[in-house]
Amino acid sequence: MAECIEVVEEALRALSRGGAVQPLRSAVWMPDRHGLLGVMPGMLGRKEDGVAGAKVLTVIPDNFTRGEDSHQGLVLLFDQQHGKPLAILDAAAVTAIRTAAASAVATRKLARQDAGDLAILGTGVQARSHLEAMRAVRNLRRVRVWSRNFENAQRLAEEEGTRLGVAIEPVRTAKEAVEDADLICTVTAATEPVVFGDWISPGAHINAVGACTPKARELDGATMARSTLFTDRKESLLAEAGDFLLARADGAIDDSHIQSELGDVLEGKIRGRRSNDEITLFKSLGIAVEDLAAGKHIYAKALAAGKGTTLNL
Ligand code: NDP
Repeated sequence: MAECIEVVEEALRALSRGGAVQPLRSAVWMPDRHGLLGVMPGMLGRKEDGVAGAKVLTVIPDNFTRGEDSHQGLVLLFDQQHGKPLAILDAAAVTAIRTAAASAVATRKLARQDAGDLAILGTGVQARSHLEAMRAVRNLRRVRVWSRNFENAQRLAEEEGTRLGVAIEPVRTAKEAVEDADLICTVTAATEPVVFGDWISPGAHINAVGACTPKARELDGATMARSTLFTDRKESLLAEAGDFLLARADGAIDDSHIQSELGDVLEGKIRGRRSNDEITLFKSLGIAVEDLAAGKHIYAKALAAGKGTTLNL
């Protein structure tokens, strides 16, 4: 996680400097809309040592109830210069870590320095990796976790509390988790709001990670309206983020509400947090350059350690 945070930060900075190609992804729904196939292409770096590639993955939310990964697929990595395939990686593992790493980058830059009262909404793969990511960038004083199913919250609290050596409180309502928190991570597959604006304390930072399609949202319009909005990619926000699009359709916000891309803040082109009372919001859609950067890092480490399987193509 610590390494991936640096790798993702550099990828977002490169994107802001024009050192990456990041088109919109394609999402193809299964005929009965129980899930989708996503194709996420991109390029990162220069011709000499850069990579091209794509993450191809399925998202089947119901898998969670069967104890299986809801995100499965492959990251395909090619060298830019000769177009040679370099590596095939497990997209589930890469997605779990790089997504939380992106939230950590946002939190490190945008959250108050003394933020440490964490609320996690959701108990899936991202809930666990976000716990680890938030711990990497802030000193956590208190951790609360909420799920629709209290037993899931209890299980996460027990397992991750033991694994990471932190006290985690399972709570019965999202409101109980969010009130007084100064770090809020929404990592659910919800399609209707689970967070409401009047619950949020001044000065909080929110990482909104679920709801990556135009008709799904985790945040209500008031949360959006009260927050200063940053995102990983503006084009993706305008095409994919139900949290933004539905709040705009309700009249809670308009296009001028978008502050900037996180990479522009990291590069010092745009200011981040302006006061201790400001509520900052990182709306994460997840972009291919994060997968490619993580994939390139893993590939280099695998080569150095003699790990992986060589394919004769
Ligand atoms: P999981 O399937 O592992 O977990 C999903 C969680 O959402 C579970 O805790 C489930 O718990 C909860 N949930 C499901 N439906 C609802 C609902 N209607 N209301 C409230 N909670 C609900 O998913 P992940 O952890 O892998 O991903 C979480 C979300 O983040 C997904 O929406 C996913 O698409 C998105 N995501 C975003 C990425 C990005 O880059 N921005 C990357 C990867 C994932 P329970 O049933 O117990 O309530």
